[in-house]
Amino acid sequence: MRNIFVIFFSLTFLAGCMTAGKKVEYGLKSITADDMKTHISILASDEFLGRAPSTEGEEKTINYLAEEFRRIGLEPANNGSFFQEVSLVKITADPEMKVDISGGRNRINLKYREDIIGGSPQQKEFIRLDNSGIIFVGYGINSPENNWNDYEGLDVKGKTVLMLINDPGYATSDETLFEGKTMTYFGRWTYKYEEAARQGASAVIIIHETGAAAYPWEVVQNSWGGSQFSLRNDPLASSALQFCGWITNESGRKIFQAAGLDFDGLTRAASGRDFRAVEMNMGLSVNFRNEVEYSVSDNVAALWPGGRKADEYIIYCAHWDHFGVSNTFRGDSILNGAVDNATGTAALLEIAEAFANLPARQNRSILFLSVTCEEQGLLGSDFYANNPLFPPGKTAAVINMDALNIFGRTRDMIISGYGYNQLDDYAIAVLEKYGRYASPDPTPEKGGYFRSDHFSFAKVGIPSINLSAGVDNVEQGKAWGLARSEEWIRENYHEPSDNYEPDKWDFDGMIEDVKVYFETGYNLSMTDKFPEWNPGVPFKALRDEMMENQKP
Ligand SMILES: [Zn+2]
Repeated sequence: MRNIFVIFFSLTFLAGCMTAGKKVEYGLKSITADDMKTHISILASDEFLGRAPSTEGEEKTINYLAEEFRRIGLEPANNGSFFQEVSLVKITADPEMKVDISGGRNRINLKYREDIIGGSPQQKEFIRLDNSGIIFVGYGINSPENNWNDYEGLDVKGKTVLMLINDPGYATSDETLFEGKTMTYFGRWTYKYEEAARQGASAVIIIHETGAAAYPWEVVQNSWGGSQFSLRNDPLASSALQFCGWITNESGRKIFQAAGLDFDGLTRAASGRDFRAVEMNMGLSVNFRNEVEYSVSDNVAALWPGGRKADEYIIYCAHWDHFGVSNTFRGDSILNGAVDNATGTAALLEIAEAFANLPARQNRSILFLSVTCEEQGLLGSDFYANNPLFPPGKTAAVINMDALNIFGRTRDMIISGYGYNQLDDYAIAVLEKYGRYASPDPTPEKGGYFRSDHFSFAKVGIPSINLSAGVDNVEQGKAWGLARSEEWIRENYHEPSDNYEPDKWDFDGMIEDVKVYFETGYNLSMTDKFPEWNPGVPFKALRDEMMENQKP
């Protein structure tokens, strides 16, 4: 009896797989270079003005996406609308502000922008802090998963927390501490600001170091020198934080000297388990004007409903925004963002069409989400993750697409955050079906995992994957592929030269990758289980709690 049952079960299982395999072919066939070219040429055209949020370029972009989703047959995902409004705020700190750090008879002469830079997350006109006591909190990390708390036993209310960038694993290269050289969430400046806010601090200052930050001081200056966009309901705005900034390594060192403390000794001690925060007997004073402007932008959300499990969701995500028109470049002033991210946005439309071409509905519903303000700090995806249109506990997975391959077929695709969750296995299975493979991020110390929209979902606990262009070129090999990719970043990344160039681009690899995105999402829509975070990953606890809470 048992054997007969097993055989019967296996046969029906196989039959199920074969039909699923055949069905997926209908979708795969509809993914073509011609369609991709059409979408990219429109999205990256000068008429779309570089797709900057809250501009005419946004109007054109989101209307094009909504019309295309409607044409393909998708449903508006937000109560009859394809749009989800995102309220933004633009804050510009006075570039002439005075920042003063002193203690006892010592005063450190700091030049704003040269030595220290930052701003306020507060949406108010005047910012003032008087002699807020500075505490050196090591890396400023509170992580039970890593059994690490730099704030242990501290009350930082009214205080300024001073800390190092990155994490103890990076500093020591010890693979048993955090993730060794790989930058973790705890190493990013965003985390450090958020944790300082949770702790109730009044100000936070990060000590810069080029290697540990993965970029030089000039990048800090460029990112913090102008206006800062944030969500209108940014949690930092309702925290006690008045000032968030960075200080150069040299000036950070001066604070320790003035306090009579050993910079090298204490920074080394900060990566040891018995490190305790140090009161420096120094204070921070700032007093400046803050310009606050409100605006709105939109995420675009379209639904392709599922069948048997229509109340469960898979999200495909790709940011539509780029930098718009700039007056800092001579000649071509439009940043068209053809690769970044007209390609990913086009893929979203192409994958939607592939699902619409299936002969039968997939089981889970598919949400196509094109988010705004990725380039301003993942704001649109952050907004969706915290204001979801469908229950997060019913959202099985997020697949993010940002900047696709224009250099031809590759054997590999890259997964940043490789090994974080079981989504890797789904992508790998599809790649292997086509004789391809997945590689981990070749430069994980740069923290690439935290620099596109999949991270906004990870942060709330929803398993997400950032699967991106490989470098192991089928014709030219890996060294060539890596060189092309690095050359592109050097010359075109966030530059007006990121243009659509159909004669130069090789679409063969891009199309193969889009098919992998589609098939991976299709397979995910057909499983019974939800993919999970792997043990030890910081987002796992949030997901476990989310799933526990929705149990009847
Ligand atoms: Zn991008």
